[in-house]
Amino acid sequence: KLVPRWTASSRAHCSSSADSQDPGPSMLKHLTSKIKSTGPITVAEYMKEVLTNPVTGYYVRGDMLGPDGDFITSPEISQIFGELIGVWIISEWMGAGRPQQLQLVELGPGKGSLAADILRAFSQLKSVVDGASVSLHLVEVSPALSLIQAQKLTGRQEWPNSDGPVYLRGETPAGLPVSWYRRLEDVPSGFSIFVAHEFFDALPIHKFQRTDRGWREVMVDIDPHKPQQLRFVLAPSRTLASSVLVQADERRDHLEVCAEAGVLVQQLARRISENGGAALIADYGHDGTKTDTLRSFKNHQLHHVLSSPGSADLTADVDFSYIRRMAGEGVTCLGPVTQKTFLKNMGVDVRMQVLLRNCSDPSTREQLISSYDMLTSPTKMGERFHFFSLLHPSRFSKPVISTGLNLERTKSPASLPVAGFTELSFP
Ligand code: SAH
Repeated sequence: KLVPRWTASSRAHCSSSADSQDPGPSMLKHLTSKIKSTGPITVAEYMKEVLTNPVTGYYVRGDMLGPDGDFITSPEISQIFGELIGVWIISEWMGAGRPQQLQLVELGPGKGSLAADILRAFSQLKSVVDGASVSLHLVEVSPALSLIQAQKLTGRQEWPNSDGPVYLRGETPAGLPVSWYRRLEDVPSGFSIFVAHEFFDALPIHKFQRTDRGWREVMVDIDPHKPQQLRFVLAPSRTLASSVLVQADERRDHLEVCAEAGVLVQQLARRISENGGAALIADYGHDGTKTDTLRSFKNHQLHHVLSSPGSADLTADVDFSYIRRMAGEGVTCLGPVTQKTFLKNMGVDVRMQVLLRNCSDPSTREQLISSYDMLTSPTKMGERFHFFSLLHPSRFSKPVISTGLNLERTKSPASLPVAGFTELSFP
């Protein structure tokens, strides 16, 4: 089934659109009074306030995704994207020996499109996943976005649940239970496949600058010449973060560290090593080479990071070398590989051919082709976005060799290659 989607520019390729609503001066006022009372704040604190302040935060207030918003993401561009991630999840579930319980956990689900497309892949491959009891768990801080997700996934049969960690519950039309949480630690334990698309880039980063006197943290202060404006300053002495978060052998002169991502990855790694499963992280990113990547987007245009805070998105590239380090020894990491490589390995070309063959409407065909180009072209999203995975080490254990006389190799599920990072193959 083909689901109509728009074709629009991503954050990687911006075009202008209508002016979006400004949150007014409340966020700026909140930040300046905070700075006046306690002094300059870290970039991490700035980002956290701007994006997720419970009242005026950018994500908390509403819907910023899509052609009329500030940016567009791969799941919003084409249904193929989420369907292929659905196939990846099924392939990893099979690689783990088809456990009976399967928790799909998505971090930062946006408009719910990725989850909806993943579930469509599940229903298309019903005969494969039949017998597994599947549940969907969404980790989302934004009340406004969680309602949009509920509408898309359940048709609004959700019921609010103010007590306990689950703040919303519902059921998909196929009867699959859906639960919403504010924090990953509230999601029940059990075999889980975690998906985080354009989630880690929204988490707060600390910024550091190498100076003659050692590493100094970049802070946000009020501009003394323009009291309605903020500016970056360097902390005069070491901060807790600059002492703890900069590695002794760091070679870059400017550094961004997302400590919150580190904590989350440690949690994911512990869950995967204890209960089995995998995590797929897809985002803007680099492997420990980039320096200054903090950016802001408004109406699909680059926006100054410190001006009219709360009216625009803030994003920083994910440092996959840091994610790998924080994942530790309990899990095996794969990637980063580019989005283009991942989608090609997952069979995006074959899926496109099938959709085109079944579609005769010229404008839908054109839209299919342009969204394919947007997702895979090296100059668009194909090489800006990367895929990274945490997996249970048993996925890579050598096939059992029997001790019998003929030393026959028995086929174990572990011999299935990890799709996306190598070409997809079903046994
Ligand atoms: N994955 C979606 C949306 C990306 S935008 C897509 O690709 O289209 C980032 C998402 O993460 C939003 O849903 C936002 O509300 C959520 N989010 C941001 N910070 C969060 C946090 N600290 N905890 C939980 N969710 C968060």
